[in-house]
Amino acid sequence: MKHLVLAMSVFPAALSAEQTRSVDAHVHGAGTVGIAFSGSDFSLSLEAPGADIVGFEHAAVTAEDRDLVQAAISDLAKPLTLFVVSDEAGCTVKSANVSVAMSQIGEHETEGDHSGEATEEHDHSEHAEDHAAVHSEFHAEYVMTCQNIDAIDGIRFDYFERFPNAQELDVQVVSPKGARAYEIGRSDVELDLREMF
Ligand SMILES: [Zn+2]
Repeated sequence: MKHLVLAMSVFPAALSAEQTRSVDAHVHGAGTVGIAFSGSDFSLSLEAPGADIVGFEHAAVTAEDRDLVQAAISDLAKPLTLFVVSDEAGCTVKSANVSVAMSQIGEHETEGDHSGEATEEHDHSEHAEDHAAVHSEFHAEYVMTCQNIDAIDGIRFDYFERFPNAQELDVQVVSPKGARAYEIGRSDVELDLREMF
């Protein structure tokens, strides 16, 4: 209870200061996944902070930034390499849409006095990010179709191997048997779906 009261007294002020647009409030390291099985298809949607996918959330400025974003989009466009199901299911990608949403927070925390800071070791990219208070998210929507969908007994999240800054995913699964929520982390990347079929 003590913790709850403490959180309540701090959080509403932070929330009201945020002017988020297409980017929901997110926690760096944590993404969300929605999976729905229907007939021989399943859909999968992913929302992940830019911090998890490319390690930054500011607009891609340098050529290196742009390369990182392009490589991420290219890899996110191949969902069956990130969210791996049994070969026996014979799944192929029917559609894959990947986008990047950016949101500039209207107000940000007052910056401290920078005049005393050492300049030699100063990381300018991080400094700029602090000032802009920008958050970005990668959004992806997929539909897969499978010859033998009953052969899917789980999903292995190689996503965590590809994106080393990602720590966890909150996963919602809907199947004809109902709906369930799971949490998948990089220490255990196997989602067991046997009870969903
Ligand atoms: Zn963020």
